[in-house]
Amino acid sequence: MMANWGYQDGSGKYFITIDTDKCDGCGACVEACPQGVLEVGEDPADPLRDEPVAFAGEEQRKKLKFACSPCKTYLTSVDGAESSMPTPELLAEERQKLPCVAVCDKAAITHSW
Ligand code: SF4
Ligand code: SF4
Repeated sequence: MMANWGYQDGSGKYFITIDTDKCDGCGACVEACPQGVLEVGEDPADPLRDEPVAFAGEEQRKKLKFACSPCKTYLTSVDGAESSMPTPELLAEERQKLPCVAVCDKAAITHSW
């Protein structure tokens, strides 16, 4: 199942998606995340699931754009202002380097922005 954690506002869609069929709850992404965005535990989207799984914490998922911005330097210029949107190819390449994405050897995490 694809579990989407985040929100949409006037400036865009800010979702972290966990493929719960791939995630084995190893916790590597929790260790790698410098902002404490990710947690591993009982699946909030599927209470019937027995195995632990990764998800964005309840408080963090309401402010993902800001919580993840230190990792997403490719979206901001040196003065912190939003830069022009990178090409889709560059964006896809840069997302693969995010600490949470890079550390997940199950390729279970994707970001929408
Ligand atoms: S690193 Fe990947 S497999 Fe491990 S808990 Fe995080 S999302 Fe799941
Ligand atoms: S991009 Fe990934 S590692 Fe960085 S703060 Fe967001 S969830 Fe954490």
